[in-house]
Amino acid sequence: MRDLAELVNELTRHITTATRYSTTLGARGKAKRHRHVHYTTAPGLITQLSVASSRSCGPPLVTGTRTQPGSRPPGQHQMLVVLDSITRQVSDLRVSLRLGVGKSRGARQSVAQDLSEISYLARLVDRRTARHVHALVRRWHSNASIALTYQAPTIQLRDVACPYCGSALRVRADASTDVWCTSAECVDDDGVRRTWGRGAWLMLLERMSPAV
Ligand SMILES: [Zn+2]
Repeated sequence: MRDLAELVNELTRHITTATRYSTTLGARGKAKRHRHVHYTTAPGLITQLSVASSRSCGPPLVTGTRTQPGSRPPGQHQMLVVLDSITRQVSDLRVSLRLGVGKSRGARQSVAQDLSEISYLARLVDRRTARHVHALVRRWHSNASIALTYQAPTIQLRDVACPYCGSALRVRADASTDVWCTSAECVDDDGVRRTWGRGAWLMLLERMSPAV
């Protein structure tokens, strides 16, 4: 699981994604397959959201002979909604963490500055609060990534619950991740969120079956 600083870095500074592909070289019969990884570094998710959603605030779209002021493609509208929601929540969390450690509310600043400060303040609070902060930042990272289509949305597993706390379990719809328990409180002795490899779904189902 990525730590808080890493998530904040990808939200505010830059994000690197790896694309794997292969090429085949050589004459027929002797052709060799080569695997490659191409790394792309892009601006942070917040910057990307803000650029992508403000693009749609430009001149009104013209469709045929009709001018439609203010209309935007659904994807861009969604990015603006996600950006607004993250900005508001980040600002609220920063204020509540500041007040929690005996500071004033502080002057308004950019969402990137708020996030960096949250990353610092999370080191001054108790473990439970720090876990809550981590869960929130992970959710913003995930929502921003989905809006920018870096990640598949998450789905809830049917008929299976966490064997430790009974909460719902989720996984990325493209099965690109482990299954995780949705309760932020559900952690092991080391404070690590409980997850299961995809191969463990059957085991989880078996454990559930006596209750059916
Ligand atoms: Zn659980």
